Amino acid sequence: MTPPRFTADAMLARLARWLRVLGHDTRLDPQLPDDALVRLADQEQRILLTRDRLLLRELRPRQALEIVHDAPLQQLAQVVAALQLPAPAELFTRCTVCNTLLSPPLSREERDGLLPPDVRDLPGPARSCPGCGRVYWPGSHARRMREALARALPGWLP
Ligand SMILES: [Zn+2]
Repeated sequence: MTPPRFTADAMLARLARWLRVLGHDTRLDPQLPDDALVRLADQEQRILLTRDRLLLRELRPRQALEIVHDAPLQQLAQVVAALQLPAPAELFTRCTVCNTLLSPPLSREERDGLLPPDVRDLPGPARSCPGCGRVYWPGSHARRMREALARALPGWLP
């Protein structure tokens, strides 16, 4: 089964970033008007995530989920439960900023060239984004995000 792909409305930017952390292809185009957003979701066979009940009723996207929570991690837990998403084998495989799949783990030489000196030797893979150049490494920020996920979705992550 191919994993579901998403389009998030402008109010759900932080939810979109969390879905990317889990590896899901999630578009975020806050400049698009509602009708264009729905058209894009339908064309690309994405599930539209929205807080806008009126949009759902009037524009009738083919696949959509009305998000009912305010807090991004509660929103994420709603999506995981509603679609019964399986936990990913690995977090941080997609750029949270631009939605591009990250590189394979960086080599020793690449780490030395791209990472700040104090994090070069941290255990775990570091990756870069071919889309925007951002570099991801297994530091305290990633650890705090994993902990927040574990609290929001108890027992779900491996
Ligand atoms: Zn990127």
